[in-house]
Amino acid sequence: MRARIPHPHRVEWTAETDDRDLRPGQVRVQTLAVGICGSDLHTFEGHHPFVQYPVYPGHEVAGTVIETGPEVSREWVGVQVTLEPSLICGVCDFCRSGNYNVCQDLKVMGFQAPGAMAERFIAPVRNLHKLPEGIPPEIGAMIEPLAVSIHAVSRAEASGRSVGVVGAGTIGVLVAQVARAYGASDVEIVDLEDSRRRLAGSLGMMASAQLSKHEIVFECAGTESALDAAIRGATKGGTVILVGVYGRPTSIPAALIQDWELVLRGTLMYTFRDYREAIRLAASRAINLSPLISHRYRLPDVGEAFDTALHRATAMKVVLMAEGASGSSALRT
Ligand SMILES: [Zn+2]
Ligand SMILES: [Zn+2]
Repeated sequence: MRARIPHPHRVEWTAETDDRDLRPGQVRVQTLAVGICGSDLHTFEGHHPFVQYPVYPGHEVAGTVIETGPEVSREWVGVQVTLEPSLICGVCDFCRSGNYNVCQDLKVMGFQAPGAMAERFIAPVRNLHKLPEGIPPEIGAMIEPLAVSIHAVSRAEASGRSVGVVGAGTIGVLVAQVARAYGASDVEIVDLEDSRRRLAGSLGMMASAQLSKHEIVFECAGTESALDAAIRGATKGGTVILVGVYGRPTSIPAALIQDWELVLRGTLMYTFRDYREAIRLAASRAINLSPLISHRYRLPDVGEAFDTALHRATAMKVVLMAEGASGSSALRT
């Protein structure tokens, strides 16, 4: 059984299973918890710029290895893991230099390759990271968005600088927490939704409806108005990091970029270093992940879960739980 988005505006739990034999280097993983990401919602709404339907979603996942293919140590069986969903060519200049997040032939599980919103899925063993004891599956499923945020913050030198974040969704709140953990002098996060500002405030953030001026601004919403606010919220000579996924053509106040000597930088995904750091920060509790989980559903209720996730006034991270996975006792919180 697995989730499928056959075309925009529909997601279904199907009887299909990926029962293919494992190829060398592959393992089969039983899903324990899998998150719904803003980019999954882009796929659902037909705004994702880089997918073709049908799409098998799911890239924020924790699970247990249940079968190993040829050339994989049997010791992986039973190990709890989280998935790094990037499928890379391994031979382009970017892969060779270690920056494989911008591989020339990048495919991401859950978008251009089958994902993990399924009872079981197949993955290359090299894409797995062991989860330390004590990290429950739903937190394991948050390692991916935390790695996104760590990579984003690594695109600027936050230490000692003032940082603004536009968009207090999961990624925005994580970026703000990471910037704070890395020594930003002050961190302000803005969102138009009251509920999101309250959540950010409860985590000790300065949360407002309008951004004051900052040396580094992270745009984490992926809309034109948010990018406009991020650029206007930068000090002269400041840096704006584009973290959001822009589902539509987006115009920018180019005159300000020129006149204020701003730097605009993109950030995409992560590499294994960001994953290792994400696991370290989660295990040490330097980053507070569980308050970001607003809803839990069972895997077969994926349709309802997407409906909930689409309501950004009330939903933050919506997580699908396998039957019996820890955390599922608190279903529909
Ligand atoms: Zn994601
Ligand atoms: Zn490559």
